[in-house]
Amino acid sequence: MNDVLYKNGQIYTVDDSRSWAEAVAVKDGRITFVGSNEDAKGIEAAEVIDLDGKMLLPGFIEAHGHVTWGAIDSLFKISLFGAEDAQYYIDTIKKFVADNPDLPVYEGAGWENPFFGPEGPSRKILDEICSDRPMLMWSHDKHSVWVNTHVLELCGIDKDTTVPAGNVIEREPDGTPGGTLREFAAIALIDSVRPVFTKEHYKKAVDWIQRDLARHGVTAILDPVLDPEEEAIAAIKELNENGELICKLRGAFKSSEIDSYKHIDDFPKIRDAVDSHMFKIDQVKIFADGVVEGKTAYLKQPYEGETYTGDPIWEPEHLNEFCKKVDELGFDIHVHAIGDAAVAMTLDAIDAAKTADPDRDRRPVITHLQIVDPADYHRLADHKVAVVTNPYWHFKYRGFFEDIEVPYLGERAYHEYPMKSMQDAGIILGGASDYNVTPIPAPLRGIQIGATRVGIDEDPNDMELVLAPEERMSVEDMVEVFTKGNAYSMRMDDITGSVEVGKCADFVILEKNIFEVPPEDIYKVKVVQTISEGKVIYEAE
Ligand SMILES: [Zn+2]
Repeated sequence: MNDVLYKNGQIYTVDDSRSWAEAVAVKDGRITFVGSNEDAKGIEAAEVIDLDGKMLLPGFIEAHGHVTWGAIDSLFKISLFGAEDAQYYIDTIKKFVADNPDLPVYEGAGWENPFFGPEGPSRKILDEICSDRPMLMWSHDKHSVWVNTHVLELCGIDKDTTVPAGNVIEREPDGTPGGTLREFAAIALIDSVRPVFTKEHYKKAVDWIQRDLARHGVTAILDPVLDPEEEAIAAIKELNENGELICKLRGAFKSSEIDSYKHIDDFPKIRDAVDSHMFKIDQVKIFADGVVEGKTAYLKQPYEGETYTGDPIWEPEHLNEFCKKVDELGFDIHVHAIGDAAVAMTLDAIDAAKTADPDRDRRPVITHLQIVDPADYHRLADHKVAVVTNPYWHFKYRGFFEDIEVPYLGERAYHEYPMKSMQDAGIILGGASDYNVTPIPAPLRGIQIGATRVGIDEDPNDMELVLAPEERMSVEDMVEVFTKGNAYSMRMDDITGSVEVGKCADFVILEKNIFEVPPEDIYKVKVVQTISEGKVIYEAE
């Protein structure tokens, strides 16, 4: 006897032939039957649910979302997301400080570069709000931190302080640090003043975000930066052991080029200690470069009008050795690469690992890929790299596109964030919000923008607005990106990512068939129910 039989649905299975079904049966959290209403007649179930024509899909998957630090930002820091101008930051921080006058440290997150000059926001703005306690404000993409003078003094950052290539201490004309630090090695200088979050903070944060994800139909997500020095891993493990993890969680360990081997022996131990159906850590995150807006992305051709190409964060030899080591330990690499030179350098590192061990079933992940040299497409395909794109960003973001991307990248900006051309080259595509760089991790939003390549409220028929129209994906292909494609990149394709007998009953039920609405209305389609392991984890009111 099955637990549930769903019938009368428009069930898009995302199996290899992208077949449709009308009914699906579930027992003990697993799918036992997929077929027509007619074939379902003999199926017995304790409960029969009439889908009444609604659409049922495999639960959506996010292959790169900062579950832990994103939720910590939302619950425990000053939120600077969603500003219209720089004044908003000042007003928000001032109000928070006035409301919380006794905090020993003020930490915030979410400011964006376009509201400031290329040198980033100034320490002096924060000094005027509070000068006797540390203030540190993360940019929305976590690649920069804005601090007050007190932090610079406490951490001994002055005119003489230097950082490795690829990292930046922004400076005033006389060389005094101006208050903005970019990339990990520069940001690491202020580690000693950062507030420490406890396991209880992380448990609360993860529980909160997994419920939010469920609202958007997400049943699995990968956190790309789990730090062995933080309580995040212990918190997720405990939630899992208590049966409180409702969303499958996969993770990548944080690594850094500075002390790259510091935790290398711990990685396998922690992996084995947490390894379970709902929670696994089997990737290692590597930052190959920075971001275009900080001019820290590593490009093959110089930034527009300059001779500077940006620097790689890792020396190529060092990266090759590290990737080989990670590979030997049985992990997949998960590499942040924004510029085309960073992508190529990562492919060289994969070559090195492959030369050392040609037969390993490796699934390297490269994410973001703002600029990719088409000459590298065949390498991405041959290595079966899971390319985790960020379709949520694939439009001409107002303020960003004209003021930063075009001036910095020139012609390249008009072809940035390729997708369709990579798919046509046989590359395996995944997709992600990079939550909380994207504040709302709703795959229907990513699917819509991937198909239209305009902003969520913009008209896709206005070709002026469309970012690289030749890179538009079909809605079917976008659905595959957020289900099967991501399942591949997270090594979950044997248990989820499609509606097939034997897989987990991870579903999202939508009020209507998204293939029957115009692509620009996909995000308006309501998530009616989200089901994980056969249990309802979200139900619309
Ligand atoms: Zn990220």
